[in-house]
Amino acid sequence: FPPLSSKDPVGCIDGNTFSRYVGVTRFDQLPVSKKTKDGLLEAKYVKMTDIQRASLPHALCGRDILGASKTGSGKTLAFIIPVLEKLYREKWGPEDGVGSIIISPTRELAGQLFDVLKSVGKHHNFSAGLLIGGRKEVNEEKEHVNDLNILICTPGRLLQHMDETPNFDCSQIQMLVLDEADRILDTGFKKELNAIISQLPKHRQTLLFSATQTKSVEVLARLSLKDPEYLSVHQES
Ligand code: ADP
Ligand code: MG
Repeated sequence: FPPLSSKDPVGCIDGNTFSRYVGVTRFDQLPVSKKTKDGLLEAKYVKMTDIQRASLPHALCGRDILGASKTGSGKTLAFIIPVLEKLYREKWGPEDGVGSIIISPTRELAGQLFDVLKSVGKHHNFSAGLLIGGRKEVNEEKEHVNDLNILICTPGRLLQHMDETPNFDCSQIQMLVLDEADRILDTGFKKELNAIISQLPKHRQTLLFSATQTKSVEVLARLSLKDPEYLSVHQES
């Protein structure tokens, strides 16, 4: 079992304590909604992987996360579940607009995340959109983007909407996720990411996942992470 941070257990979720969820092994033991549990079960997700066990108790307590584990270790659910739960607990609805943004370095990966979100989140009533370059007319997207609760985007397309879409509003976002953060933070996306971050509210939860751990002060400062939890999982096989 991966080592968890020795941070003091804190009160979280409905008066329960964080420590209660340290060491649980199955999704149905987590403090998540029935809608999410049903989605997980129907997609045949029962036992958590190591990175999921290490990060979900923290993420579900509202902490910022820097998670690192190798490709194929299950990082997607480690952020999709907190995204769904955050908005569910906030009773996010259709009129509340964009509540969560997930950034992925490539169109292909963004599409895969979208499929997982649709599957695990199918019992929730959130609207979600895939905003990636070259997929469909950006003008068509512009008319709907403010009606979406969860955006899965590539950096360039998100920035295009921030720059060009009238009234595009991210001021209420509760959660920002960077998947494959090491790749997004590569020089190629540095400018885009800086521009995106500068337009997002600072009061939010931020989850970063990547295949390699980064503790770069520059990166953390740019993302304004608050006392983040560093979780690094190395599994055999
Ligand atoms: P990563 O992002 O770390 O590369 P993914 O999230 O893409 O990993 O997951 C890799 C594969 O493992 C996917 O096919 C996914 O469906 C599967 N998977 C993830 N979590 C679990 C789990 N808890 N139980 C069973 N399969 C899982
Ligand atoms: Mg991944």
